[in-house]
Amino acid sequence: MSKRVVLIGHPVAHSLSGAMQQAAFDELGIDARYELWDRAPIALADAIAEVRGDDFLGVNVTIPHKERVVPMIDKLTEEAQVTGAVNTLTREGKRLVGHNTDVPGFTVALDKLVGRQKMPRQAVLLGAGGGARAVVYGLIRAGFQRVVIFNRHLHRAEGLVKHFGRSAAHMDLKAMPWHESIIESELAKTKVLINATSIGLNSDVSPIPGEILAGDLLVLDLIYKRTRLLRDAEAAGATAQDGEIMLLHQGAAAFALWTGQAAPLEVMSEALAEARAGGVRSAEGEPAGEDEAVPEAAAPAG
Ligand code: NDP
Repeated sequence: MSKRVVLIGHPVAHSLSGAMQQAAFDELGIDARYELWDRAPIALADAIAEVRGDDFLGVNVTIPHKERVVPMIDKLTEEAQVTGAVNTLTREGKRLVGHNTDVPGFTVALDKLVGRQKMPRQAVLLGAGGGARAVVYGLIRAGFQRVVIFNRHLHRAEGLVKHFGRSAAHMDLKAMPWHESIIESELAKTKVLINATSIGLNSDVSPIPGEILAGDLLVLDLIYKRTRLLRDAEAAGATAQDGEIMLLHQGAAAFALWTGQAAPLEVMSEALAEARAGGVRSAEGEPAGEDEAVPEAAAPAG
């Protein structure tokens, strides 16, 4: 019997994950179908009950359910527990295990960004949503000693700092109000800048002015395209990287959890590029067609 893997989100139409995961199943001859389930929050509990059935191999969870799903799961991995967010489910009999593969996805992206240099110890993070949670945990695990979070709504960044209280007890994790002058002075002390806001996803704007970007910065934008921020960073002589590697590797980690097999990365990467070139819009937070008119508020959850 063909196995089922579902993406539960709202909305989920035309997900890039569908193309990426189906290509991987087909490549390895795994008889599985990747389905998109658009479920409003009120229908989430029923969907979670349904995926406990034997025909399901696994599940992806995306916006707006990543945090809401946590209490519905029987067991959480350390990453899911610490971040308080789940993007992948596996089954152990009728029990569901919640994982957060955005964390390893981010870690691969960070390693690639830093390259052969020594891992820096200080970072500035823009944004405090679901993606930012995976980033903060990834930075903690990479040994960062000081991470300053700026967010439009300061209370959300403060909540995130509080959430990580114990895991970040040994370091300086703080939230600061979004003022350009404060961001500029923090950037002067750091080498790594990460954008985990959705600014730039649906419009060609940058969260911060290009003039405050120094040439020695390493800049990672979680958004899966060459954003204004990344172009400004390159113009300043900085190293810039988009969210493709994180997206690919969170998907590869999920695939390995479901199937017990290493993900065919090249095939998945090609499927992503093809889907994107075809103008497919995503539910995972990454844009598809450059011209997609998705309202900023409807943006993502990685
Ligand atoms: P959330 O909806 O949880 O968070 C959105 C973040 O963007 C919040 O910090 C929010 O601030 C901020 N924001 C949105 N609009 C504005 C605005 N107009 N002005 C200032 N701040 C704004 O989304 P996620 O954390 O899940 O995703 C954030 C980004 O990360 C997305 O662009 C997504 O593409 C990307 N992503 C990529 C992944 C990948 O695999 N490459 C994985 C996960 C995310 P506030 O709290 O004040 O509203």
